[in-house]
Amino acid sequence: MNKDRYLVVVSGPSGSGKDTVVSRLRQLHPEIEISVSATSRAMRPGEAEGVNYYYMTRDQFEAKLAAGEILEHTCYCGNYYGTPKSEVDRRIGQGVTVVLVIEVEGAGNIRRLYPEATTIFVAPPSLEELEHRLRGRGTESEEAIQGRLARAREELALADQYTATVVNREVDDCARQLYEIIRARQEG
Ligand code: 5GP
Repeated sequence: MNKDRYLVVVSGPSGSGKDTVVSRLRQLHPEIEISVSATSRAMRPGEAEGVNYYYMTRDQFEAKLAAGEILEHTCYCGNYYGTPKSEVDRRIGQGVTVVLVIEVEGAGNIRRLYPEATTIFVAPPSLEELEHRLRGRGTESEEAIQGRLARAREELALADQYTATVVNREVDDCARQLYEIIRARQEG
């Protein structure tokens, strides 16, 4: 099997619940691994270094970029986010399924680098529900929420570029659908 098929990209607007769905996927199937990204954004309460992200300053991030240590990256709402090379190539070479939870620009870059990768778009049931979830999270300022909603509208327009789209109405069901899509591609 082409090793690219061990690479799975999960995208979707901020607030679509994609991180929760992927955590659930991992609980159900612990053999699946999740790539930890680097970011220059501040740590949120409840997050931990090396678990949610590798946190660094903009200068540190730019040094990693210059050293060629970042596979893909983007600037999202004013902060850098990127996938360290060390999170991906060795693992997919060993036949381990690795999931990248990244936004749409990163997904496009991964598609160019790994044309056979499985890409899944997690959509919210509606934009109203997305706004409700973003506000309910209580972690962002009004300005940041508006920025994330504007970005969400752009991201939703790109859903048809993915291998599959799953609407996140309920976490367990969505996680099961993700697993079926990943398995079907690896068996097919
Ligand atoms: P948040 O600040 O909510 O943790 O993440 C903001 C957005 O950046 C989310 O859509 C998240 O999936 C995306 N993101 C996280 N890590 C990466 C990465 O390594 N590369 C790219 N392209 N996007 C990322």
